[in-house]
Amino acid sequence: MKILSVASEVYPLVKTGGLADVTGALPLALTEHGVAVRTLMPAYPAVLQAVEKPKKLADLGKVFGEEARLLSVMHQGLDLLLLDAPAFFNRPGGPYLDQTGKDHPDNWKRFAALSKVGASIAAGLLPGWRPDLVHAHDWQSSMTSVYMRYIQAPEIPSLLTVHNIAFQGQFSAEHFSALELPPHAFMEAMEYYGTLSYLKAGLVTAHAISTVSPSYAEEILTPEFGMGLDGVIATRSDALYGITNGIDAAIWNPSNDPLIRSGYTATSLKKRLANRKALAEAFGIDDDEGPLFCVVSRLTWQKGMDILVEVVDELVARGGKLIVLGAGESGLEAALLGAAERHKGRVGVSIGYNEPLSHLMQAGSDAILIPSRFEPCGLTQLYGLRYGCIPIVARTGGLNDTVIDANEAALAAQTATGIQFWPVSAEGLRQALRRAFRLYHDGKSWTQMQKLGMKSDVSWGRSAARYAELFRSLISKGP
Ligand code: ADP
Repeated sequence: MKILSVASEVYPLVKTGGLADVTGALPLALTEHGVAVRTLMPAYPAVLQAVEKPKKLADLGKVFGEEARLLSVMHQGLDLLLLDAPAFFNRPGGPYLDQTGKDHPDNWKRFAALSKVGASIAAGLLPGWRPDLVHAHDWQSSMTSVYMRYIQAPEIPSLLTVHNIAFQGQFSAEHFSALELPPHAFMEAMEYYGTLSYLKAGLVTAHAISTVSPSYAEEILTPEFGMGLDGVIATRSDALYGITNGIDAAIWNPSNDPLIRSGYTATSLKKRLANRKALAEAFGIDDDEGPLFCVVSRLTWQKGMDILVEVVDELVARGGKLIVLGAGESGLEAALLGAAERHKGRVGVSIGYNEPLSHLMQAGSDAILIPSRFEPCGLTQLYGLRYGCIPIVARTGGLNDTVIDANEAALAAQTATGIQFWPVSAEGLRQALRRAFRLYHDGKSWTQMQKLGMKSDVSWGRSAARYAELFRSLISKGP
């Protein structure tokens, strides 16, 4: 089975969030299921620097008026097709934001170009290789199925995976005429309250839709979580699936992770202490017996970071320590830095993106706090489970599906792997922390949870099997 995945970020080449982890790991996990994935992504400068000797595969002439060609290269087991369109992708800044943190003004055109080329590949642009199905991810490639339906390749099935419905690719309707679509595509697919919505257009035109956990698949049907698209999704509920993400268990493996100070397994948890010591040095905090809580996150409202700020004082007053790694909204960054200033030696904050440090934090902290208001799947709780870093999570989306709450029944049955709380509020998180302190000081229950978490299957195995099954059923159903 041949799949074309179209993605705006792919780990380890470019990553701004969980999307990249999925698009980087899923193709590798799918090979075991007889699925061969080729991934189309933009040739950002960082990508061209990282890959070795890409081959020119096709000259695309002009795409939306700009020179473009397609390169191919294998990189760490990934079969990549790189859209090399320098006017769109060779520029400073990140994949979506410029150096000042503002959206690139032509994002509407850059990602329509990616999608349009994806549709051309689906239609047979590459001699000798045509996908059986196209898999798009989020708004940045959700226009692929739009071009497939209206321009070419309506016969090839497509799946759109929504990693986060909060990001919708909404643009001014005045760009429609430049998208090279037939006029009726505007009302049928693209129009959203007088604007263009790339995600909505993908939701309407893809053969099937999936999200990254079963709970989130249900949640986005409601006004509270649907972010204005719940009505659209409701019309597609017969084609809506929820498949929980896995993690790359080779990269995230505490027994041989080169990014941590001391490797360990579920039977040598004491070795985690060397990692805790390394963290104390890195963050300038005390290395004492109190539980060490960590946060690795975008610092945003979605992630409940304002709620975290509200509970820091109590966390410290109870003898805990907190380390935070992340970047995001400036007010939240400032509030967390302020907390670190107030609680020297007890709270440490590192603003920025730091992959190696994120590994060490999972390996040396006692618990990871994830107070998200909504969470399509979430990966950091899965890393936490695998690393014996107890996840303390809001009961929402994928957090709900992957962490088993340490209520009395679960503790007695020895199935608990973390702590869930609800409602998602400062009081909810405070209650959860109080439970965490109790369990931590009890010692036995804590270790039991660590061991169970480390045993739970968070790898891609099962999820990849479900994707393969879904691909198969969509292909056999036909257009
Ligand atoms: P989202 O995609 O909504 O940001 P996820 O939990 O699905 O949230 O994925 C976040 C990914 O990004 C995880 O792999 C996490 O470890 C990583 N991450 C987030 N912030 C940082 C950071 N500041 N430094 C390193 N890794 C980070």
